[in-house]
Amino acid sequence: MTKALTTEQKAAAFEMMVRLDMTAYIYGGRVEVLVDGMTQHKAEIGEEVIKSDVEVQMAAIYEAMCECRDMLTEDDTEEGGYCPACSGSGEGMFDGTTCGTCRGRGEA
Ligand SMILES: [Zn+2]
Repeated sequence: MTKALTTEQKAAAFEMMVRLDMTAYIYGGRVEVLVDGMTQHKAEIGEEVIKSDVEVQMAAIYEAMCECRDMLTEDDTEEGGYCPACSGSGEGMFDGTTCGTCRGRGEA
């Protein structure tokens, strides 16, 4: 059962909101997590949570935020080999040029 957040968890939630530009709210029986203004993750929460006090709701929101962050982190790992400057295309900023960061290889 979901319970109130610890001080560490509250700090972690705040850190995610700032670092990942993440927001979350309860809507229509779900927690919706937005990153950079886009809905990235939805988590079903029970009636029980909706009817509970704000501490329990915060805990449900935090849980959904963590799931969302983990999803984002997994994506980052998959893209680990790509050059961040050209997203793996090997192309430079202008047509016909080569990415200076990876010298056209497309890998980091
Ligand atoms: Zn590159």
